Amino acid sequence: MSDTIDTLVSHWIRPEIRALSAYHVQDAAGSIKLDAMENPWTWPDALREEWAGLLRQTDVNRYPDPAARALTERLAETMEVPGGMRVLLGNGSDEIIQMLGMALATPGRCVLSVDPGFVMYRMIATFCGMPYVGVPLRAEDFSLDVPALLQAMEEWQPAIVYLACPNNPTGNLFDELAVRKIIEAAPGLVVVDEAYAPFASTTFMKVLGEYDNLLVMRTISKMGLAGLRLGFLAGPTAWLDEVDKVRLPYNINVLTQMSAEFALRHKAVFDEQTACIRTERARLAEALATLPGVVVFPSEANFLLVRTPATRASAWFEGLKVRGILVKNLHGAHPLLDDCLRITVGRPGENDRVVSELMDLAMD
Ligand SMILES: *Cc1c(COP(=O)(O)O)cnc(C)c1O
Repeated sequence: MSDTIDTLVSHWIRPEIRALSAYHVQDAAGSIKLDAMENPWTWPDALREEWAGLLRQTDVNRYPDPAARALTERLAETMEVPGGMRVLLGNGSDEIIQMLGMALATPGRCVLSVDPGFVMYRMIATFCGMPYVGVPLRAEDFSLDVPALLQAMEEWQPAIVYLACPNNPTGNLFDELAVRKIIEAAPGLVVVDEAYAPFASTTFMKVLGEYDNLLVMRTISKMGLAGLRLGFLAGPTAWLDEVDKVRLPYNINVLTQMSAEFALRHKAVFDEQTACIRTERARLAEALATLPGVVVFPSEANFLLVRTPATRASAWFEGLKVRGILVKNLHGAHPLLDDCLRITVGRPGENDRVVSELMDLAMD
């Protein structure tokens, strides 16, 4: 029986899927959770009350509005999408990456991005049967290697180029002129992924419309609504009307439509929280930089990339875990990330804890 099923599975499941390891999420029960770029604050009681009232009036026996009109309009307005541009919603921006893959994949077309970068670009390219080309960032400062990118685009003619600004897991914002050079030279789409826009000093949203091949992707996850699963793509109607055809009907459920629309009406609450995270980011960066042998890289996101003294990353990661703090160990993920940890900015008390525990570990 098991012989037969194994034979069947290996015959029918595509080899590139069998070769993958499933996306791994660490068990966080009971820990201070600084591993996934979540906003550490919950909603004020008054907001919860009002939300609960709306929830009570929401009927779940009906399918949601397939176009999520109210939410789409609210997003376009609050996220300052330029007039004339269309907005397309996804069940997280991960689903948007998947829709783009499904809409553009044909044999021989590839996806290109930078390494180290966001792992879902590579994973979803594989799901869609597209090769992934990763162009290394510059080792000194994780900036874009423009000549290498131009050459790779010339050679591979990618259907889609993804640039996360700020980049995950490095935290830095790419130079605007460098990004413009990539957009100008790209043969196909360039998607600027602004998942960390609430923490960054600039955006490409206002650039939409200047280039025929530019789309901007955002998510509400990092601003404090990760549990709702909502991302969106903004750009010219000509592109988005086509991508919309591969979107599953009702991809944004009733509860997400209602809750996100409600939350965005109270965006000031989230703006206050994200401003606080930016302040804490500076304080945490300064404190971590005082640890002997530690390098803290500049960040415009809600996390810090930290290089520990040589060979210490895994020991510090495990040490923090034992002490009830979960961060991300990036050692081994990419040669440029040797000895690196990624620490999400938490509440002031959580940030103090991570610093004091690392201080302790640094003494070993
Ligand atoms: C977290 C993250 C996303 C995924 O966002 P979801 O909307 O939660 O799917 C996309 N891009 C980057 C660069 C991210 O870090």
